Amino acid sequence: MQLEKLSIGIGDRFSHQGEAQLRAIMKANEKGLSISPVWNKSNREHQLVHTVPTDVRQEADAAVKALGFKGKYFVDADHINMTTVAPFVDCSDFFTLDVAAFIGKESSPEAIGSFVTSCYKYMGELQVPGLDHTMHVTEAVLEKIAHKFLAATSQAAEIYKFLVEKKGAGNFITEVSMDEVETPQTPIDMLFILKMLADKGVPAQTIAPKFTGRFNKGVDYRGDLKQFAKEFEEDVLVIDFAVKEFGLPKELKLSIHSGSDKFSIYPIMAEVIKKHDKGLHLKTAGTTWLEEVIGLAKAGGEALELAKDIYIESLGRKEELCGPYADVIDIDMSKLPTPAEVQASRQISDASPAPSIDEGDLVRLTHRVRRGDTLSGIARAYRTSVSAIRSWNKLRSTRLMPGDRLTIYASRSASAGDR
Ligand SMILES: [Zn+2]
Repeated sequence: MQLEKLSIGIGDRFSHQGEAQLRAIMKANEKGLSISPVWNKSNREHQLVHTVPTDVRQEADAAVKALGFKGKYFVDADHINMTTVAPFVDCSDFFTLDVAAFIGKESSPEAIGSFVTSCYKYMGELQVPGLDHTMHVTEAVLEKIAHKFLAATSQAAEIYKFLVEKKGAGNFITEVSMDEVETPQTPIDMLFILKMLADKGVPAQTIAPKFTGRFNKGVDYRGDLKQFAKEFEEDVLVIDFAVKEFGLPKELKLSIHSGSDKFSIYPIMAEVIKKHDKGLHLKTAGTTWLEEVIGLAKAGGEALELAKDIYIESLGRKEELCGPYADVIDIDMSKLPTPAEVQASRQISDASPAPSIDEGDLVRLTHRVRRGDTLSGIARAYRTSVSAIRSWNKLRSTRLMPGDRLTIYASRSASAGDR
């Protein structure tokens, strides 16, 4: 079983978008590409929205049937481990073995020693074809890498063996993921991780390392684009070398877990894989629904009320909902509006954000609009401007309704003894 050279992992948290997503891939394929769709959903996502792995298989089969898609497609048991894999076994044919939790776990001195010994031929200045520098491989470097990754790769082997017993070798695709960790793996780490996987007989077809920068949910890539481009290209070259050197599947390619659309790095990845004629698995998450919530909020009326309910409900469960995503979410709680502020807002727009208030002299106030109040009158009273009040409150018009609450940043002197 083999992926096309290009494949896209489709995340769909609520299983409503399968057809639309497949249609997009079919449109790309009409233009001469040959992308394999792979529906993916992790155990934690199933738990959060109360779905089961077979739901994803049904969604994928139904979308493929409805649109008459003729290519290969797959269902990915995303980020599984030994304790969560069981319910995915029958309905999945792609397994992402998440061994991040085993990075840095103790391995026996014998295992470490024999790994280091097996790498003697690579010691010294190792030239990976295409790299503009050599890798400095010493016994100390190898020992360090073994301490860090041997247990994780052993764990991958254990899950792989379990799957072979259940499904038979060759009947599923294997991905190994280490992306949800804090520290990126360097190209030299990657090289020897691949050797460990080859030694242990794990025929990975995709591998998901952690890259430099943040792959947070719902926002673009945050990090140094030049550094990302360099690491990405080095990993592509290292994989090419590892495939030939260690006998891994020749279709082995990088898997990028995007978290959500990462438009700033897509062109970089496209350039590198074209340059070296390599494949890529782009695994998108199920965060498309967040865009739909933005659409609801912008639509106003009943839709906005629904978006508000979602926000307020989620805020109350923040720890529970964000906990499992600690490495891929950065939320500055101080910038989030309170439930009361959200409840009171009449529109949410993507107009200019409120100015950042860092002058110690300013205080944040709420002004309750009374009959007869005008924006210019309020601005005068708080010694600020109409446009500032409109921007803080994202007001599209200057009309006020009695009872409206306005957020105002006023200087302490202006607010002293205010109403
Ligand atoms: Zn991931």
